[in-house]
Amino acid sequence: MTGPARVVIVGAGLGGLRTAEELRARGYGGALTLIGADARPPYDRPPLSKKVLTGELDDTGLRPDLDSLGIVLRLAETAVQLGDGVLCTDAAEYPWDALVVATGANPVTLPGGGEQRVLRTADDALALRERLTPGTRLAIVGAGWIGAELATAAASRGCQVTVVEAAGAPLAAAIGAEIGGQTAPWYAEAGVDLRLRTAVASIEPGGIALADGGWLPADLIVTAIGVRPAVGWLAGSGVALDNGVVVDAGLAASVPGVYAVGDCASFWSGRFQRQLRVEHWDSALHSPEVAAANIAGGRDRYDPVPYFWSEQFGRMVQYVGWHGGADLVVWRGEPTAAKWAVCFLATGRLVAALTVGLPRDLLQARRLIEAGAAVDATSVADPGVAIRDCARE
Ligand SMILES: Cc1cc2nc3c(=O)[nH]c(=O)nc-3n(C[C@H](O)[C@H](O)[C@H](O)COP(=O)(O)OP(=O)(O)OC[C@H]3O[C@@H](n4cnc5c(N)ncnc54)[C@H](O)[C@@H]3O)c2cc1C
Repeated sequence: MTGPARVVIVGAGLGGLRTAEELRARGYGGALTLIGADARPPYDRPPLSKKVLTGELDDTGLRPDLDSLGIVLRLAETAVQLGDGVLCTDAAEYPWDALVVATGANPVTLPGGGEQRVLRTADDALALRERLTPGTRLAIVGAGWIGAELATAAASRGCQVTVVEAAGAPLAAAIGAEIGGQTAPWYAEAGVDLRLRTAVASIEPGGIALADGGWLPADLIVTAIGVRPAVGWLAGSGVALDNGVVVDAGLAASVPGVYAVGDCASFWSGRFQRQLRVEHWDSALHSPEVAAANIAGGRDRYDPVPYFWSEQFGRMVQYVGWHGGADLVVWRGEPTAAKWAVCFLATGRLVAALTVGLPRDLLQARRLIEAGAAVDATSVADPGVAIRDCARE
């Protein structure tokens, strides 16, 4: 493979590391620099809210043999500005011929002078774990994916957990209140106090000031209300930004030679005919394949069926597709049962599915979505019919 002489990758998380790996796997022999603000070598984030918090795992490092990649690795170094062919960090300048933005996303925080933690980095998780001791009054703001996983781990460690959520149901923003609402009983089962329709005014020393004037005392407060793409350092660079780095189907940004992957990339999805930004592990794993191919002069397109999973309250929740354009929701099984699913159809085609404890349904749904298959809604509603057999001829 030929390609540009110097490739600089900004962000040493999964997306950044995978870009370096994919470039080398494709035979790229030029200079490769990987720059990351975190002091740790690249590590995996999903276990941080699961096995790291429960104490089953300490280290989630992604690649012990980094040296074999032949990269210049600059850790604890933050990109601050992108100029014409030169990247400036807080320590040095790096000329580039191709540049990959893989800076991920940063948690949103709330106003107030009290101590609020977030859960994004390995240091966040390890420090939090130290505080998850029996009887600790933990208040979590946000009943999203991270909030639910943290509540699961903290309850299992004997904390008194309260989750406050402004919406009327957990996961309302991600999958809608009706479906997210089915997970509310899981909190109670685990002994977690879930307070819905409870907005936070500010985080104060010793507790949370609620918008309705109430007060929630807490020893430990974690804000888990979502993330924003970490792209502020690109302001003024000419790289178009709109909910992340705006890239085309080939992951190329508006400035020639610049690409974006993972959480920070808002890419054009031909499949769903819109810009999509996916904050999930699978996207950081696979989007670098396309960026690397195109840096090498290829014309690959990134057009995934998005996928993610969450492990909460003893359940495996999986989601595949994009349900934004769905016009029909089909329930598959009783949501009070241990295993159930919901399928989303648009003009008769399966476009997304959420499964609880049904990995086979998830896999089969993924294949039908990839194929753009039309399905029979009555069969989809029948858990006795395999999802793959719901496709119309
Ligand atoms: C606690 C937790 C649990 C998760 N669980 C799941 C799960 O169960 N399932 C799932 O599908 N997804 C999960 N995710 C999401 C998944 O981990 C992310 O989608 C994935 O890590 C994104 O990878 P990335 O490389 O795009 O970004 P990141 O992993 O965020 O990496 C970006 C890197 O860029 C660095 N950086 C940022 N700004 C700069 C800068 N200016 N200069 C230099 N470096 C910079 C950061 O320090 C960071 O190391 C979870 C995320 C978290 C935080």
